[in-house]
Amino acid sequence: MKPGPDIIRRCSKCGDLIKEETMESGNTFGARIWTDGYMTAPMMIQQPWYVCCPHCDQAVWLDEHEVVFKRHQYDLPINDEDDIFKRAWKPKPARDHQLREYLNEGSSARGKEVHARRTLWWSGNHVRRISTSDYPPLLKREIENLTAYLKFLDEENDNERLQMAEIYREMGEYSKAKKLLDKEFEGWNRELAYFINWYNDQEFRAVREIKYKE
Ligand SMILES: [Zn+2]
Repeated sequence: MKPGPDIIRRCSKCGDLIKEETMESGNTFGARIWTDGYMTAPMMIQQPWYVCCPHCDQAVWLDEHEVVFKRHQYDLPINDEDDIFKRAWKPKPARDHQLREYLNEGSSARGKEVHARRTLWWSGNHVRRISTSDYPPLLKREIENLTAYLKFLDEENDNERLQMAEIYREMGEYSKAKKLLDKEFEGWNRELAYFINWYNDQEFRAVREIKYKE
């Protein structure tokens, strides 16, 4: 992995400093990916967008914090940059209740609402990712979130079409999923469609890791 410059931002709530890490290039070596599109990748920086300030714990979208300066780790510090760096801590991802509060405020920008709903989808599925036999059914609030999220997805876009198919499968609407999967996909989407379809045909509704050998 090749890191990019660190971006030092000022928290819009408390004024203290936050460090956003960036990446010039990464790779998927050692990555794990699930049928809902969630991925963990040790060789990539997965910077959350809606973050909790490490100083005041309030959730804010990263791009809404003012940029103080950017500096690559190889660059020599200018003036008091080193002191600033010490105070600039990495933010944590916002918690689920903060994402729900953001959505309940109802003033969402489209991209941010999509991001919040997808993050809540993935987060709700985490308990099922680690299961091997007992898969908790979707909660009412998860179904409500997925139903709202579906409205943003476009079946003409293959990536979004596969998310729709996966959501219908997870909601147990197998015939709707099947209809969306009945298409020639290309590249990675073809692999993903194969796995979603395989579980859909078995009427198995929990999220699954994509593995070629069990
Ligand atoms: Zn803050």
